[in-house]
This record gives sequence, C-alpha cells and structure tokens, in this order.
Amino acid sequence: MGRKLLTEHINVEGIHTFDVYRKHGGYASVEKALKTMSPEEVVEEVKASGLRGRGGAGFPTGMKWSFLAKPEGKPRYLVCNADESEPGTFKDRYLMEKLPHLLIEGMITSSYALGARTSYIYIRGELLYVLRILEKAIAEAYANGFLGENILGSGYSLDLHVHPGGGAYICGEETALLESLEGKRGNPRNKPPFPAVWGLYGCPTVVNNVESIATVPWIITNTAAEYAKFGIGRSAGTKLISAGGNINKPGVYEIELGVPVEEFIYSDEYCGGIWKGRDMKAVIAGGSSVPILPKELILKTAAGEDRLMTYESLSDGGFATGTMLGSGGFFVMDDQTCIVRHTWTLARFYHHESCGQCSPCREGTGWMEKVLHRIEHGHGHMHDIDLLVSVAKQIEGNTICPLGDAAAWPVAAAVRHFREEFEWHVKHPQAATAPGAVFNKA
Ligand code: NAD
Ligand code: SF4
Repeated sequence: MGRKLLTEHINVEGIHTFDVYRKHGGYASVEKALKTMSPEEVVEEVKASGLRGRGGAGFPTGMKWSFLAKPEGKPRYLVCNADESEPGTFKDRYLMEKLPHLLIEGMITSSYALGARTSYIYIRGELLYVLRILEKAIAEAYANGFLGENILGSGYSLDLHVHPGGGAYICGEETALLESLEGKRGNPRNKPPFPAVWGLYGCPTVVNNVESIATVPWIITNTAAEYAKFGIGRSAGTKLISAGGNINKPGVYEIELGVPVEEFIYSDEYCGGIWKGRDMKAVIAGGSSVPILPKELILKTAAGEDRLMTYESLSDGGFATGTMLGSGGFFVMDDQTCIVRHTWTLARFYHHESCGQCSPCREGTGWMEKVLHRIEHGHGHMHDIDLLVSVAKQIEGNTICPLGDAAAWPVAAAVRHFREEFEWHVKHPQAATAPGAVFNKA
C-alpha cells in the first residue's frame, strides 16, 4: 500500500470540521510558517521539494512563486484554480469536498509565503455544494483565528474568498479565470505577461491548482527533504489520479509517482483491471486534452521499458509515442469502445467550449466536429481522415491559449493510432452505423 500524504485522514469521521481536522495535526504548517519561518524560507522550501503544478502543466510550483513580481505599492494575490472541468478529472472536487480545511491551510501558508493579504478560491460553478462546504470551513477558520487580522498573533493578516464560475470550461485557463474573477467575460489573455507580473486587477498574482496548494501543508510541516523522498527524479511526491472509464474500480487514488502504468490499471490496489473481463483498447492518461494511446503504447515506452506514472515516462518520445500525465484524469477504454465516436464526442466538447477569440480554434474545432460527425454517421470520405490531421495541425501552436492544442492533439493522436478504425467507418458505413457496432481488428 503506497503512502498517502494528502489523503491519509480522508476517511476519518468529521474530518471536514475544524476540530477533527485540528486533532489530526491540521493547521500545523500555518503555525510553523508564521511563527518560525520567513516568507522567503517557505518559498525556498516549496522550491526544494520539487513539487510541480498538479493542474496539468507540471510547472515547478516553487519556481512559479519565485517569479512573482514585487512592485512597490501594489498588492499581490494568490488565486486557487478550483475550476476543475477537464473531462475525466474529478480529484480536486473530491479533495475539497472531503478535506476543505486542507485546502484552506494550504491557502494560508502559501499566501503568507507570497505576501498576499487577500486570496481567492475560484470554484467551478456547477460545484455549488462544494462551495457551501468551503464557505462553512472558512467561517470556522476565521472563528478560530486562522484567518482575518493578526493570525495567531503573528502580525500577518489574510482574507479568503470563494468565488463561483459560470460553468465555462475556458475559465479554468488561468488568464480567463482572472478576467472572470474581475467580473468580465472569461476570455484568455495573451501571455506574456504571465500572471506573476500582470495578474488579478493588473497586480502580481500566483494561480495554483487545488492539489498543488493542498500539498504545501505536508511539505512545510514535514520538510522538503522528506517530500522529495517520494516519487522518482523530477516527478517528486504523490499525485491524485481520477481513474474512470471501463475499469472495475473507478475513483480517486493518491499514488506515489513512479507506479508502473500496468500496475495502476490491473492491480486491486488501484483500478482492479478492465471490467467484464474485457481487453483494454486505449487510455487517455491525463485528462481529455492529452493524446490517446493504444494498449501497447500505454504499457511500454518507445524503448520497450515499462511506462511509469510520471511526467517524464508518459511523455517519452514526444507526442509520436507518448502522452502526458496532465491533470491525472486517467480514462481507460475497453475493446468495445468506438474510437471514432469517442473522438467526435471530444471534438463536440472543444468546439462548444472554444471562446472564439482566435480563428484557428474557433473555425478548426467546428471543422473537426463536422468531419468526425460525417465519418461516424456513415457519410465520410477517405480524404476526410487526412483533412482531420491537416486541420489539427493548423490549430496546433497557432492560438492564444492551450485549448486549441487540447482540441487538436486528441484528434491527431486518434487518427495516428487508430487510422484503420477510421478507414473501416468510411469503407463500411452500414456496418459502422449499426447500433452497438465496433471495429474489430480480428
Ligand atoms: P503553461 O505551461 O502555459 O503554464 C503553466 C504555469 O506556469 C502557468 O501558471 C504560467 O503562468 C506559469 N508560467 C509558465 N512560464 C512562466 C514564466 N516564464 N514566468 C512566469 N510564470 C510562468 O500551462 P497552463 O496554460 O497553465 O495549463 C495547461 C494545462 O492545463 C494543460 O496541460 C492541461 O492538462 C491542463 N488543464 C487542466 C484542467 C483541469 O481541469 N485540471 C482543465 C484544462 C486544462
Ligand atoms: Fe479562445 Fe480557443 Fe483561442 Fe483559447 S485557443 S483563446 S479558447 S479561441
């Protein structure tokens, strides 16, 4: 059984309340940081831990913190990105629902490190019940002197607010999120400048994912050196994985980075194998925005080694042979899954969620959806398959925000790895559109 750093007490009765959380060592990092460490020392500790952003990009958290500009006379902000909307990803919701005080503790310790006096949790609008849980926990933290003026008599003061989004996927992109928090339409901004320089209300801002912030208490309480003992190389620590699809045991698992993918899928400790005793066809390892891989490539790297649940091993060989750990939305598909239908579903999603600012994304996502629709519904042509790849290529790298790439990669990867299945749809439209029909290689 792997060691749990974030979720050790998640099943303790009443752990969502201040008193029970405190009894299990909660808020120790706030006491340690505010009473014995300078803000710079907290930043250095997080840097030394090797923690990388858990929202999807894997950018080193301590390095992001050290980029925060400190101009005279301007406030600094910490904004927690709790707008978890990536299809297949539900680990932040789980964490906030079960352990709201862990996130609040992380917000206080991190805000202290960054010199923020007002911080925000921007939560996905559909998660209203989680917002209520957080608001209740924040009120408890205020009542017990962990938020508000002069926390624990340290002279440091912090106000923490929760703000619900309106339900747009794009508001999870950090600059769209900031626009939305400012009360505007959630359109992504051009970067640079990064939020670390020009963020909320034009002030220096750090935007961190829920899981990243929730990891800070463990690091500060137990030291960076202890944290760095978990994981492998540049993939330090543990990671929450949202496991879904055709597996026996869907759910959220905290794994030590470095677990072999095969063990994660087939062992009873995690996914418990493929449901109904079927074979596995493909996996999306890091949320819907990352390339899909067929069974043989998700289990072994290009060099024939066991693929591991790490940032490096999953992206081995670039997108030709690899994928990404991303947000940890691990979606398994069995041999009865139609890859064309699956790809069309994703394309519909990205077309619907595109904010429409850049032409390649606005038009390209629409084209991919249309072309996939006709292939799936028996009206496709052979040249449509290459058209899909061509449109995806024209989107990739030509847009303001990563949604364009996120829409293009799954389509390009699906055609690259499952071309035969697309061709079968074109060649055998009647068979392909029969209810429940699935391409069978054999
Ligand atoms: P990114 O690589 O552009 O940036 C990562 C972070 O590092 C950002 O906060 C950025 O501001 C910061 N950064 C990078 N370079 C910097 C510099 N030079 N100076 C200061 N700061 C710098 O990626 P992103 O746009 O933040 O995120 C994309 C990822 O989001 C994708 O990989 C996808 O997996 C993930 N995603 C997650 C969800 C979810 O629900 N969790 C939803 C959609 C997408
Ligand atoms: Fe909007 Fe798409 Fe451009 Fe992102 S890539 S800014 S979602 S149009």
